[in-house]
Amino acid sequence: MQLFVDAGAAGRAFPVEHGGQNDNGANLASFEELVLADPSMQIKAGVQWGLFGSAIQQLGTQKHHDKWLSDVRTLKLPGAFAMTEMGHGSDVAAIGTTATYDADASEFVIHTPFRAATKEFLGNAALHGRAATVFAQADHRRRELRRALLLRADSGRGRRLPARRHERG
Ligand SMILES: Cc1cc2nc3c(=O)[nH]c(=O)nc-3n(C[C@H](O)[C@H](O)[C@H](O)COP(=O)(O)OP(=O)(O)OC[C@H]3O[C@@H](n4cnc5c(N)ncnc54)[C@H](O)[C@@H]3O)c2cc1C
Repeated sequence: MQLFVDAGAAGRAFPVEHGGQNDNGANLASFEELVLADPSMQIKAGVQWGLFGSAIQQLGTQKHHDKWLSDVRTLKLPGAFAMTEMGHGSDVAAIGTTATYDADASEFVIHTPFRAATKEFLGNAALHGRAATVFAQADHRRRELRRALLLRADSGRGRRLPARRHERG
């Protein structure tokens, strides 16, 4: 992956001001070619620059672009794309994960309300990811509000953050 960065081949679809080429066609062509060389590498590159990075680019604002895109392109910030759930793949509107803002703590609480809402298939999440774009229902009571949030996983040391599990009695 670092060789792609060094060769200027990473994040071709990213804006020029963040080191990309603003060239979707070149990005697609290189993605297509890469699968012939190494399908595993193609998926990993696709997760980093195609899914994780483009979620920030397409769904974020200039503020998010300025803060994250260069680091995503250069692999300073490896990440995951947390959309798919055990019970919801293509049907993103039905995802069950919720994100509720806790104003006192100034943080989002990510909640898996039932087993089928468990996130699945997340490339980079197990080992290399340090952040994730997480797709969730922004408010459990108003399910029409869906959001993509960028969450930092840790301070870059590859440790899992503690999670709290609430079992029903
Ligand atoms: C190699 C690989 C890497 C992946 N990496 C990631 C990742 O990094 N992050 C991530 O979030 N996910 C990832 N995924 C998951 C991928 O995005 C899901 O496979 C995808 O969301 C489809 O979900 P599903 O497999 O549950 O299929 P389903 O959603 O169950 O779809 C099965 C079939 O039913 C059709 N279908 C579904 N709903 C409807 C409908 N309402 N109307 C008509 N037809 C419908 C679909 O078109 C499809 O043909 C990865 C998958 C693979 C194979």
